[in-house]
Amino acid sequence: MNVAVLLARAALAHPHAPALAHGERVVADYAAASERIARLSGGLIALGVEPGDRVALVMKNHPAYWEALFATWHAGLTAVPIHSKLHPKELAFIFENCGAPVVIASDNTQSACEEAAGMCPGVRHVIGIESTAFARLAAAPPLPLVPRAPDDLAWLFYTSGTTGRPKGVMLSHANLLAMTLNYFSDVDAIAREDCIVHAAPMSHGSGIYILPHVARGACNVVAESGGFDAGEIFRLWRRHGQVTMFAAPTMVKRLTEAREDADPAGLKTIVYGGGPMYVADIQAAILRFGQRFAQIYGQGESPMTITASDKAVHRDSAHPRYLERLGSVGRAFTGVEVMVAGEDDRALPLGEIGEICVRGSVVMQGYWKNPEASSKALANGWLHTGDVGALDHEGFLTLKDRSKDLIISGGSNIYPREVEEALLTHPGVAEVSVVGRAHPEWGEEVVAFVVRRPQAPPSAAELDDHVVANIARFKRPKQYRFVDALPKNETGKVLKTALRSLL
Ligand code: AMP
Repeated sequence: MNVAVLLARAALAHPHAPALAHGERVVADYAAASERIARLSGGLIALGVEPGDRVALVMKNHPAYWEALFATWHAGLTAVPIHSKLHPKELAFIFENCGAPVVIASDNTQSACEEAAGMCPGVRHVIGIESTAFARLAAAPPLPLVPRAPDDLAWLFYTSGTTGRPKGVMLSHANLLAMTLNYFSDVDAIAREDCIVHAAPMSHGSGIYILPHVARGACNVVAESGGFDAGEIFRLWRRHGQVTMFAAPTMVKRLTEAREDADPAGLKTIVYGGGPMYVADIQAAILRFGQRFAQIYGQGESPMTITASDKAVHRDSAHPRYLERLGSVGRAFTGVEVMVAGEDDRALPLGEIGEICVRGSVVMQGYWKNPEASSKALANGWLHTGDVGALDHEGFLTLKDRSKDLIISGGSNIYPREVEEALLTHPGVAEVSVVGRAHPEWGEEVVAFVVRRPQAPPSAAELDDHVVANIARFKRPKQYRFVDALPKNETGKVLKTALRSLL
């Protein structure tokens, strides 16, 4: 089934329900959105592309992004959502690799896309969403929905990658449908009156929440700032109500610490994930906004869907293992199998630490034109996530760090996350990242990069006392480096490689 069917059905069931809003303003109901998407699809096909061809979407968050995405699917094409802040050379690599004949850009990405297209003879059209060319696409005769088989590609998702060249994760229509159904079964129910506010990039984290909301005829609200503005987000909660949002942990932290007045009455759910959420941070967020949080753990290769902690887990604060549960990433989604594997790729006993592997209908088809990486990632029928963790006797999965981030000092394994969690419980610590530095005697030693709160900046000695009071001595940082900010990639993940290179 073509996932665009979900939108066509919503238009039949709820033609007058708001489908799309830009900031506080509703710009289309489902009937109007569906009509415009059929026309845009007709316009795309008139450019001479054929079902299966790729369309690169390089846009800041904008309602036209949502339209272009569905138009691409409706026409049987494959969407390639690309982060809007990439350098022209990075764009050129992806355009060339995926072989997209058409690129759709927004005003802020147009010139970078044109520069990149200049390096890629395969790109035949770069169309800006504000241009007359886009208006012409939207005026084409409507195209009937092009059917797609379950394994046909819907989405080529280039991994953000903190190292190496990005790889195109091949997600089929069946993968995206499985992801949608798993949201309903394990994250949250969605009603027609709900909406999703897109404040994180729709090309990444926020984009995968579009489908479950469209399936229920809920409204997709695109924050107008196109970026992340806490004041605007709070206004959108008030204006629209019943709001769900996806937020990376750093965004949750910024919302929690924002000075603006926030009435959480209009907020239904914040789904967080995409990076480690520290226990101290989620507790502070719950204190400010109430029990409105759910967590997902996923990766591009198994989008949104490996494990989840729903609101019930967050609410159950009387549970004797509440803090451990908060520090975990929850339990396997209904539709996936999760295995913690040892070196031989077999399941380890509960409690033991190994590589997290996933199997199920949400798992990618492989990497685009990269059979070697595909067969490595999908060896023995399991997706090898590259993440390391352990399952407990109640089925909760706790992530340790990625294997390359593990610090081995004097033969002992030290998981940076544990040291980071301990440091973050100190009131003077705003952000922290822990890495290993080569040491002639111990192999590696622990170094902590710390962003301090300006009001009461703690000294290294104070932090050391704090760590020793909370975790084993051998894990304590041998050095504290005080920095103004941590280096992060475009999706907000801390670049540990950059920190290591500073050492
Ligand atoms: P990406 O493919 O860019 O979405 O990155 C996926 C990676 O982010 C995963 O393999 C994990 O390392 C990390 N990640 C995703 N969700 C979580 C989470 N809830 N907690 C900790 N790390 C996460």
